[in-house]
Amino acid sequence: MKTRFDYLNEMDINTEWLNRSIDNSSLTNPKKKSLASLKAEVSDCNKCMLASTRDKIVFGSGSLESKLMIIGEAPGKDEDLMGEPFVGRAGKLLDEILFSMSLTRENVYITNTVKCRPPQNRNPLIEEIESCSDYLNQQIRNINPRVIILLGKVAANRMLGSEEPISELRQKIFNHHLTNTPMIVFYHPAYLLRSPSQKKQMWYDIKYTLKYIKENDCTIN
Ligand code: URA
Ligand code: SF4
Repeated sequence: MKTRFDYLNEMDINTEWLNRSIDNSSLTNPKKKSLASLKAEVSDCNKCMLASTRDKIVFGSGSLESKLMIIGEAPGKDEDLMGEPFVGRAGKLLDEILFSMSLTRENVYITNTVKCRPPQNRNPLIEEIESCSDYLNQQIRNINPRVIILLGKVAANRMLGSEEPISELRQKIFNHHLTNTPMIVFYHPAYLLRSPSQKKQMWYDIKYTLKYIKENDCTIN
């Protein structure tokens, strides 16, 4: 069976920059402190109507020192019950995407455009995304990633202010309006599960992203 390294070698991609050990365990870490207080604030948030139907808030997970931040759409049922992003089926595919980039959940930071589950998994409304956007912007400022991957149409539209389909947005670099962080759009893993024939496109997006990272010297600080 082919390993991720076989695939990456075939694509002539070196991912050594991604393999680093990170210590963010210090209690004095200011990032950790400010994200912990932001999380506490979000736990009590009633800014939009999703507060009334949520079980747990899904704030975000992963490394605070990550160079790669991933922004999905909204928590689903499993995420709402566990309080963690991408723990359901789409999360398994996200794990595979990360694996193919020589990454794991522990060395990226994953969050969503809204921190509470929309009922019946409907798309979050514009006003809900707007209500939640300050939390997301604070997370981006705090984590300060080198690259952000936007998963799917909802995240892409929210972050880019664009209504274009993903097919028009992928394999391009956009910049976050507040921090200038480069952002790259991927198909959402849930969409790829529904449309497996599109999975090969995901490989091209991974390849594009790794090349961008390499060419822009996003190496260890
Ligand atoms: N889909 C998302 O967009 N986010 C999650 O956290 C889970 C599924
Ligand atoms: Fe607050 Fe965001 Fe949850 Fe709305 S989705 S209640 S803004 S945390």
